[in-house]
Amino acid sequence: MTFTPRLRPKAREIPEIPVPSAQRVWLVVGPRGLLARRGQEKGERPALPSEDELQTLGIELDDAHYLGELNDAEVRAVGLPDRRDLPAPYAVLSVRELVQAFDEETFALAGRATHVLDWATSSRFCGRCGTKTERLESERCMKCPSCALTMYPRIAPAVIVLVRKGDQALLARNARFPIPFFSTLAGFSDVGENLEQTVEREILEEVGIRLQNLRYFGSQPWPFPHSLMIAFTADWRSGDVTVDGDEIAEARWCDVDALPLVPPRISIARQMIDAWVEEVTSRSSRAR
Ligand SMILES: [Zn+2]
Repeated sequence: MTFTPRLRPKAREIPEIPVPSAQRVWLVVGPRGLLARRGQEKGERPALPSEDELQTLGIELDDAHYLGELNDAEVRAVGLPDRRDLPAPYAVLSVRELVQAFDEETFALAGRATHVLDWATSSRFCGRCGTKTERLESERCMKCPSCALTMYPRIAPAVIVLVRKGDQALLARNARFPIPFFSTLAGFSDVGENLEQTVEREILEEVGIRLQNLRYFGSQPWPFPHSLMIAFTADWRSGDVTVDGDEIAEARWCDVDALPLVPPRISIARQMIDAWVEEVTSRSSRAR
């Protein structure tokens, strides 16, 4: 599967001919998650419902947002009012369920759709003068017809850091995680900060230590509803690990052969953890 993000559908040679429904992929986003058809057989993954299924369910498809193309199909996202009357096997899946159920590409599409719908529903009125906004055709933008304020989807940068000390890495359990896994530390950028300063501040605030040798690892959009995770690895420089017990419930230096429960493979936190485990394991097997 190849997803090509685009703002507008390609101009078709005869624009009057509508796109056949089989060439459209729909992502239906409600306040509590994404609409999916649960697998019928044991172990079968959930799937995105087809346009025909959505029509049977009475879902309004007119006010859709075009996201791009998946192979030759148009990808569209549409909002769903909070509905608790969906007949089986249809259900609204939370982010946590999506992470477990979908492959990486479908999960990424679900994220895009969630982010776009979050923006569309939260920028219906002008934040400056209160007038109802209008959606622009030319770009992903809501504009106030009265005072011309423009509202684009908001993207909030957040750093995520794997701190190392010798062969160990610092993993922490966030008090708000619904599943008690241990992950890398993370936090949002504040006004006026560069990413290095965010890393320094967050790690000092959350676990009371100072770092050195900050290295960029990679990035991952986490559009639930609007984060972009920028991942780093760093080395411990000074300080003892102390947690506030409020946001971070517990933090500890972990060894590769005694890992606690870690986040799912789709997350960049897990990719950093896996890279550290791989590096330490291959080095110690070479040393033997
Ligand atoms: Zn306005």
